[in-house]
Amino acid sequence: MSISRMLDSLPGTMPTLEDIYRDLHAHPEFAYSEHRTAGIVAESLRKAGYEVTEGIGVTGVVGVLRNGDGPTVMLRADMDALPVEEKTGLDYASTATMIDETGQAVPLMHACGHDVHVTCLLGAAQQLATSTDLWSGTLVALFQPAEEGRGGALRMIEDDVFGIVGNPDVVLGQHVLPYAAGTVGYRAGAMLAAADSFEARVFGRGAHGSRPETGIDPIVMAASIVMKLQTIVSREVAANEQVVLTVGALHAGTKANIIPDHADLKLSIRTYDRGVTERVEAAVRRVIEAECISAGSPRPPEITELSRFDATVNDPRATDRVVQALKSELGDDQVVEIDPIMISEDVGEFGKAAGAPSVYWALGCVDPKTYAEALAEGKIEEQIPSNHSPLFAPAVQPTLTTGVTALVTAAAAWLSAD
Ligand code: ZN
Ligand code: ZN
Repeated sequence: MSISRMLDSLPGTMPTLEDIYRDLHAHPEFAYSEHRTAGIVAESLRKAGYEVTEGIGVTGVVGVLRNGDGPTVMLRADMDALPVEEKTGLDYASTATMIDETGQAVPLMHACGHDVHVTCLLGAAQQLATSTDLWSGTLVALFQPAEEGRGGALRMIEDDVFGIVGNPDVVLGQHVLPYAAGTVGYRAGAMLAAADSFEARVFGRGAHGSRPETGIDPIVMAASIVMKLQTIVSREVAANEQVVLTVGALHAGTKANIIPDHADLKLSIRTYDRGVTERVEAAVRRVIEAECISAGSPRPPEITELSRFDATVNDPRATDRVVQALKSELGDDQVVEIDPIMISEDVGEFGKAAGAPSVYWALGCVDPKTYAEALAEGKIEEQIPSNHSPLFAPAVQPTLTTGVTALVTAAAAWLSAD
C-alpha cells in the first residue's frame, strides 16, 4: 500500500525530528507568545515546499501544499505551553519563565505535550511533501496558538484562516495522552468534554488579623465556597451524568496578620451535555452568592466567564475511515477504542467553522514497559504522570514515530491514490 511508501524516508529524518522535539521542549512559550516555535515551524514548512502564512490569530502558522485534484485535508497541531515548573529531571527539561500580568516571573513547561504535536506535524508535512507522486489533493498543515483555554482556534478562524487556505474537507489531529506509546486511542462521537471556566471575586472587609470581629473574612468565605461546591456533583447531578467541577485557583491576602478584603477563585466545569452545564453553572452561582450572604459579605460576588469550549465530537464515518487506515498501518492491537475523557480542546471549532467532519485521536506517550507494569499493578493513576503534571515526560520513542505515522496515514485515507 502506498501509505508505507509515504513513510519510507521517516527513519532517516527521525534524528532531526527528535532534536527539534527536545529543542521545543526546552523552549516552551505561553499562549499567543509562541514566536520562536512559530518561526521554527514556518521555516521547516517553507523548506519542505509549503506555501506559508504566518501571524494568523497572532502567532498561528499555516502551510499549504497543493498537489493536483482531490480533497483538502487539514492536519492541526497546537503550540502553546503551560505555567508549570518542570520537575522531570530530563536533560532537555525547561528552565524557561515568563512575566505574568502581575509582573511576577512564572515558570513555563510543555506539560501538555504540544511540543510532541508540533514535531509530529512537521514530520508528517515533510513525509507528504517528499511523496507527492503517491497522493493527490491539497494538504493544509495548521499550527494554532493558545489551545489551553485561550481560544487560539477561534482567533485563527476570526482571522479568516479558511479564506487564506480554503475550506478543508476533513480536519484531523491528535493529542498525547498517558497511554502506552506506540498505540493510538480513538472514539466515534463525543470524545472530549465541554469545558467552561469562570472566575469569582468575593468581598469581605479588611481588618487586623488580631481582630476578626471588626472584619468579614473572605478567606473563610472562599474556603467554605470551595467545600460547598463539592456537593454540586455529589448531590445535584445524577450518577449517569458526567460532570467534573474543579476549583483550580484560590488567591487571597498577603500577610499572616492581615485579613484581606477580597478573595479570588477560578473554576472549571466539564460536561458532555449542555443542559447539564446550565444546571451546574446555575448551582455554582447559587452556592457562591449564598455563601457570601451567609458570611455577611458587604457586596455581591462578581462572577465572570473566562472561556467556553464545546465538547469535541468525532464524526463517526470519518472516524471509521481513519481507524481502518490506522489499523492496517499500525496493526489492530495498536489502535484501541477509548472511553470519553473529561479534558477539553478547541480543535472542534475548525471542523464546525468549515462545515467539515473532524477526527481527533489520542496518541500514547508512556514507555510501553512502564505502562504495562503500572497496569499490571493497578497503579496507572498513581505511577503515570498525566498531562499538566510537572512530571509529564513523554517517551520520545516510539511516540514521535507513531505520531508522524498516524498523521500521514490518516491524511492518506483521503489523499492516497489507492
Ligand atoms: Zn492541556
Ligand atoms: Zn493539550
